Amino acid sequence: MKQSILIIEDCKMTNAMIRRVVEEMDVDILSAYNGEAGIAMAVSLLPDLILLDVQMPGIDGFEVCRRLKADPATAMIPVIYLTAETTLEEKIHGLNLGGSDYIAKPFDNAELQARVMVGLRTKYLLDVLSQKAMIDGVTALWNRTFLDQRVVKEQNAAQNESRALTCIMIDIDHFKQVNDRYGHAMGDHVLRTFGQLLADCCRGDDLVCRYGGEEFVALLPGISLDSAAQVAERIRRTAEQHEIDYCGHKVRITCSLGVSDLASSGPALVADADRAMYEAKQAGRNRVVLANGSPLPTIDPQAASAPAASESQAHGPAGDRRCSLAQNRS
Ligand code: GH3
Ligand code: MG
Ligand code: MG
Ligand code: MG
Repeated sequence: MKQSILIIEDCKMTNAMIRRVVEEMDVDILSAYNGEAGIAMAVSLLPDLILLDVQMPGIDGFEVCRRLKADPATAMIPVIYLTAETTLEEKIHGLNLGGSDYIAKPFDNAELQARVMVGLRTKYLLDVLSQKAMIDGVTALWNRTFLDQRVVKEQNAAQNESRALTCIMIDIDHFKQVNDRYGHAMGDHVLRTFGQLLADCCRGDDLVCRYGGEEFVALLPGISLDSAAQVAERIRRTAEQHEIDYCGHKVRITCSLGVSDLASSGPALVADADRAMYEAKQAGRNRVVLANGSPLPTIDPQAASAPAASESQAHGPAGDRRCSLAQNRS
């Protein structure tokens, strides 16, 4: 995906001149012609770099930068000021407000491109780092930090669009015994293998995360509670049937699963799935329990045995279409 640049410059001619220069750089370009509109575009479109005029009617560039840096959604976007004439004090003031760089007007085209390139490179590295911070090192699935950020967005989106959202909490049974018997390297291998099995049981739109030690969460947008129960049963059965082979040792594991849905749990979606999972443990492990107390629906053996071919895609960070950088990670 191309990186994008937002030009906030009130002079239409200068805005167009800047656009022509950065157009040569294989980036997407957005233009705003005053501070308020620029901030609104930055918040909604999250560009990778902002070229910001200082002198503008209404709120000036310094105030625009201050507001962008105060909003966590836009704080990480590098801001380069464009300014006709500036005193040293003003330059320092602008940088102290969170700006990354200055370009003097009239600008030299090559210098403008070079400074834009530096800003875009910085932003790319920031994106890689922040994404790596949300990927679990053992399983390469999303981690708890990512889930905590995404679950609220998914809940809001589901509510706004009146569609279902379900959550499956999964805990490997007696996992400590694997570590105790075969060592932590085998334990890690079991976690990795289980993470892959879990991902294979879900669809490309599902968010598959490692929640904690041997606990995993799958968030299923647009899937009803009954269908999520089928998916959970598919996960349970796949885990039970899979023999994990590592350095000459073969182990089998089972897991306990709790399933909740937004309609009955609301904001307690994950907590309710967790509670149902503990009920599954107490009831003897290796089973699925629904959080709303309903009995399990009759399991369709077809649905519970494998994901439909069209649904069978990569999952977690590598397969999430909303997360392009992770797809490039090694
Ligand atoms: P239960 O069926 O009640 O869930 O029992 P359990 O043994 O699975 O649960 P318990 O909470 O007693 O043990 C979880 C174990 O998971 C203990 C911990 O050492 C292990 N664990 C947590 N994270 C990792 C990890 O990253 N790698 C390995 N190898 N083990 C881990
Ligand atoms: Mg101006
Ligand atoms: Mg546990
Ligand atoms: Mg466990």
